[in-house]
Amino acid sequence: MRSLALAASPITPLNPDEPFVAEYRLLWCSLPKHPAVAAGHSVESHGKDASSQFMSSKDRSWLFVYERLPKATKSRASYSKADAEVFAQRLAELFIAPDTKLRDVFSSRYTAGMANVEEGMLKHWSWDRIVLVGDAVHKLTPNSGQGYNSGLQDIVVLVNELHKALSSSDGGCLSQDTLAAVFSRYQTLRFKITTDDCKNSNTIIRMSCWQNWIFWLMDRFILPYLPIIVTLRVNTGIAGTIKNAYVVDFVDGDEPFEGKVPWTHRMPRPSQKREFG
Ligand SMILES: Cc1cc2nc3c(=O)[nH]c(=O)nc-3n(C[C@H](O)[C@H](O)[C@H](O)COP(=O)(O)OP(=O)(O)OC[C@H]3O[C@@H](n4cnc5c(N)ncnc54)[C@H](O)[C@@H]3O)c2cc1C
Repeated sequence: MRSLALAASPITPLNPDEPFVAEYRLLWCSLPKHPAVAAGHSVESHGKDASSQFMSSKDRSWLFVYERLPKATKSRASYSKADAEVFAQRLAELFIAPDTKLRDVFSSRYTAGMANVEEGMLKHWSWDRIVLVGDAVHKLTPNSGQGYNSGLQDIVVLVNELHKALSSSDGGCLSQDTLAAVFSRYQTLRFKITTDDCKNSNTIIRMSCWQNWIFWLMDRFILPYLPIIVTLRVNTGIAGTIKNAYVVDFVDGDEPFEGKVPWTHRMPRPSQKREFG
């Protein structure tokens, strides 16, 4: 998109060539379910410049190990399987769960990979008839597990807006002006939410790696001794955000799950379905 915009006009407002910054790198692996973490549970270890997340399902476990880079970088990095092995050997003694070190987990891996954890968000989400969604627009750290979901929400909002525009068109190809308005509404609806998602996940990685003394104090002493803060954060902050997830507003369905926190946008019942033009 950037190359095309630049070729079309040198004065087009552009995103930077390397828009994302990485301050951490990440080793991940999947393995047969490890006994250190019960199915449906996760264990985290936090420390100076490194942290881990270890979680299990009924038959599989996943490990994420984060490490602060010596210097923040905008350059893309590519790590080989050998790089991942060297990293795992260097941090072999890292505490992962009670009686479990990194070396115990990594040795039983199915697959493993390593990447820099890119962070950031683009200013321009579309140009001409091109529009971006997901990681192409915003990079969240994996800590809060919201990256995929955030990209999916982009698609839902974009598809709803496109559907609205098509419903009120005469059936032909949407004009450039109409598309520009659709893309602008899509970006407006998603911008604030995505900005908050980025801030949240970026804070979590820094807190878990004790990036400064305030995060260390919060993570090491305040949150463990005042679990009410975590409970409030989950019940109001996180739930308050997730309940606002958009649904495809022209496909009807019955909500299969009713939780303690009701959805703001419910799936339309057949009678509420908007007719496609
Ligand atoms: C270790 C790890 C754990 C994660 N855990 C979670 C989690 O628990 N929950 C969660 O919500 N998110 C998680 N995420 C984030 C999530 O994986 C991403 O946010 C999501 O995959 C982004 O989807 P996407 O389609 O935007 O981009 P991608 O998944 O990157 O898909 C882009 C695709 O485009 C292809 N492509 C690239 N260039 C070209 C080209 N020129 N031509 C054709 N094809 C091209 C790529 O090969 C790729 O298949 C995690 C990420 C990582 C790295």
